[in-house]
Amino acid sequence: MVKIGILDLQGAVSEHYHITKKAVERLGLEVEVESVRYAEDVKSCDGIIISGGESTVIGKLLHTRGIDKEIKNNNIPVFGTCAGMVLLAKKTDFNQPLIGLMDITVKRNTYGRQKDSFETSINILNQNYLGIFIRAPSLESYDKTKKDIRILSEHDGKIIAIQQGHNIALSFHPELTEDTLIHEYFIKEVLCSIS
Ligand code: GLN
Repeated sequence: MVKIGILDLQGAVSEHYHITKKAVERLGLEVEVESVRYAEDVKSCDGIIISGGESTVIGKLLHTRGIDKEIKNNNIPVFGTCAGMVLLAKKTDFNQPLIGLMDITVKRNTYGRQKDSFETSINILNQNYLGIFIRAPSLESYDKTKKDIRILSEHDGKIIAIQQGHNIALSFHPELTEDTLIHEYFIKEVLCSIS
């Protein structure tokens, strides 16, 4: 059975679990959703979701547990939100362990501190969506020579959602909404990657 793993180290893990389950139900598919805590949990996953949280903490644990290597070696599509976006980047403005699966450069905490969190209406995948930004990173640049990169959404002149191959990175938090749109999209990407 197809399996989506939710990286369960730190951050908004249960929220992603809940909305991923809901997305699977809406799609009417037989897809398992499991938590990923150690490298050996990764192998059986067809896609991995990395939540918002603290990218330094998540990155260190990913690295010391060898989860990053396992994801890379098995070419598993990753969907990263907020701190997850930071971890998917090749480069950030901090010196921190990254998975670096996407040719993007990210700046952390661009949208201010916790108290500056905000919600705004955005457009993604041709639909209106509630963008929730909490100490969100911004995408500073991406490698324009890469043909497999696709901008999924922009807001206020900044790219807030981007895809490379089957990997997806968002500045905001879809797991804090009840809207399964982007999770359904990722699940379909995962299915494409194994078909
Ligand atoms: N600022 C955090 C970081 O860079 C991300 C915040 C979040 O995921 N809400 O790790």
